[in-house]
Amino acid sequence: MVEEIFNINKKNFSEWYNEILKVSDLVDLRYNVKGFLVYKPHAMQLIKKIYQIWEEELEKAGHKPVLFPLVIPPENFELEKEHVEGFKPEVFWITKAGDKKIEKLALRPTSETAFYQLYSTWIRSYSDLPLKCYQSCSVYRYETKATKPLIRGREFLWIEAHDVFETEKQALEQVKQDMEITRKVLLEKLGVPFIFFKRPEWDKFKGAVSTYTADTIMPDGRILQLPSTHYLGQKFAKAFNIKFADKDEEEKYPYQTCYGPGISRILSALISVHGDNKGLVLQFDISPVQIIIIPIIFDESKTEILEAVKKIKNMLKEYRVEIDNTEKRPGEKFYYWEMKGVPVRIEIGPKDVKNNQVVLVNRLGQKKTVKQEDLVKEIQKMSVDMYEELRTRAEKYFNSMINDADSFSELEKILKDKGGLVRVNFCSVEKEGEKCAGIIKEKTGGEVRGTKFSESEKSNGKCIICGKKSNCVVYVGRAY
Ligand SMILES: [Zn+2]
Repeated sequence: MVEEIFNINKKNFSEWYNEILKVSDLVDLRYNVKGFLVYKPHAMQLIKKIYQIWEEELEKAGHKPVLFPLVIPPENFELEKEHVEGFKPEVFWITKAGDKKIEKLALRPTSETAFYQLYSTWIRSYSDLPLKCYQSCSVYRYETKATKPLIRGREFLWIEAHDVFETEKQALEQVKQDMEITRKVLLEKLGVPFIFFKRPEWDKFKGAVSTYTADTIMPDGRILQLPSTHYLGQKFAKAFNIKFADKDEEEKYPYQTCYGPGISRILSALISVHGDNKGLVLQFDISPVQIIIIPIIFDESKTEILEAVKKIKNMLKEYRVEIDNTEKRPGEKFYYWEMKGVPVRIEIGPKDVKNNQVVLVNRLGQKKTVKQEDLVKEIQKMSVDMYEELRTRAEKYFNSMINDADSFSELEKILKDKGGLVRVNFCSVEKEGEKCAGIIKEKTGGEVRGTKFSESEKSNGKCIICGKKSNCVVYVGRAY
């Protein structure tokens, strides 16, 4: 029965992805507005955990929570020219209330222009700095590319942090701290590997001086952009007239940064990177159900087994535990909870009751019979081991998907056969390289994602497109 519900090989990733969203009851795609979806409890519980971890890290780093209005007046938008040009085609506008026409208001596509208008009144002197605020909310963009659940939608969940500093040095330090927060959460807690790229000049966040994005690789070899952090310099400060008096009473423009982990996308990365042919694979710390107890019932020992199950559940009060008491066969129950991604399963049958033991199985298939008095200790160990294995497995795949190409034809072949990120010599990530990047995009569908941050990978070769002396190594990949 259950076997028929989910039986899709992950090699066929796109089908696998759409199917797992449905059968594991994460989202409902039937909401009748295009590009919008409903997050069901299973997804929302995961999302709340991800938010919690991220918000904790942001607050540890000195950020405070705020909530700005969803609506932004047009006059705020007009202030930073590049920014408005970049977002214009995607902005939803509210123009009516009932039958009455009203002054139009934008639904936030991102909130720089909401925050900074008030930052200009909040910031007066150096003692108001640094100012570091974040909000957890949804944003709205009229995407014209094909939408994909959790990856590209017209509404998505995220966090946006907006920071202001006295000096450029402090702002650039913040960019690094944003990357460190990303590493702590995405890699260390969620086991999703990535590389931070400095994006090319032509592909920055509109209005930023420089943009850094964390890219991961999905099972089909496509690149998924995860959190990005942007150094804004004084561009927005000048546009919004944010000024502070320094220690010598001299009036100055501050330096700004913004940071945006997209939570919907992170959920899609978690599902995709760790999932397998049996369905979701969730880490112990974030799984809505951490432990499922499955009684193996025979009529003659039913009472004893149910007693033992109750006792075991009581021993595990600090965890999120459920008991599957349905009428299904044990095999069907295993299959169902595996598909839901539950990290630890406990099986108890007549023999286990007699021997004061249980069978412990993790979602990766490791099985162990343990004494009941050792249960908590064994579960802790199992959850750590499982996380380590998940992360190692993900990193192994990620690293195997980064390859070198010495020529355009080699690049073309790798992108076509395998995907992933391809390292090539390239003329420039400044304005003058845009033409060569355009040729790559047009012929292969691959994008120049940028140069690897923090490691200066120097090139001595020639640009694989124009043949000019190359001064940098860039990574090319087909992205979502
Ligand atoms: Zn070139």
